[in-house]
Amino acid sequence: AVADASKPKIIKAEQAPVRARAGTVTIHGVSKSYGTLKVLDHVTLTVPAGSVTVILGQSGSGKSTLLRSINHLERVDGGFIAIDGELIGYRQDGDKLFELKEKDILRRRVEVGMVFQNFNLFPHLSVLENIVEAPVTVRGTPRKEAEAEALDLLARVGLADKAQAYPRQLSGGQQQRVAIARALALKPKVLLFDEPTSALDPELVNEVLDVIKELASSGTTLIIVTHEIGFAREVADQVVFMERGKILETGRPDQIFNAPEHLRTAEFLAKVL
Ligand code: ADP
Ligand code: MG
Repeated sequence: AVADASKPKIIKAEQAPVRARAGTVTIHGVSKSYGTLKVLDHVTLTVPAGSVTVILGQSGSGKSTLLRSINHLERVDGGFIAIDGELIGYRQDGDKLFELKEKDILRRRVEVGMVFQNFNLFPHLSVLENIVEAPVTVRGTPRKEAEAEALDLLARVGLADKAQAYPRQLSGGQQQRVAIARALALKPKVLLFDEPTSALDPELVNEVLDVIKELASSGTTLIIVTHEIGFAREVADQVVFMERGKILETGRPDQIFNAPEHLRTAEFLAKVL
């Protein structure tokens, strides 16, 4: 690895994230630009282990980029992100940062699962094979064991009878529940959801939200981008409102929804409520 002292910025000892319970996400002063467009602008946020954070904001405000940065699918230009005190994508040696090798990035990335708007299942693999693939190839779990776990996960998301089906044979809501089971198969400490119900027909939204609600009480740290305000009110410990790459405000759901501090938050809520 080549030392790159310019990006992201070196972490000073006084900023170093504290070691905490499993699944604490520390985002500190994170910035990212695409060319001249500043997509993340000094984003700082702590997500305690086992808590649920909902991120709100208009299209283009940087929500997906922030989620992707937590997974090191995006390289940030400044600041840092850590999980339980371990830098995402980098290791620090003295005052130098080294980006991890691809295989170490992959190994670290399994701590963070991600569920996308469009499910992203492998179309040529059965439901069971979709779930088993990563534990077997990334974690080296024996196939028999991975299959048994996959069947347990399918039962958990209410799809025990769909193990042999192919994605195209399932409804959008069922596909998304398979995607959640697949993410859980790697036993992540942190699970990221990027608008998990936005591509679903309205009548299928609740079956997916119900699965996420169940996860919310299971101890996995959840960070969820969604416009489902009723859901956010019910499950979120913390709600974050983003605009133009900045966090405009953060608070408990009752604070954000009943008494937002910023006019922009109120205007946004008036549109989505
Ligand atoms: P959100 O998820 O809140 O809609 P995004 O994080 O997807 O916002 O995007 C934030 C901004 O960054 C948008 O203006 C988007 O067009 C831009 N953007 C996202 N990805 C890229 C990319 N790979 N290259 C250039 N611009 C991008
Ligand atoms: Mg997005």
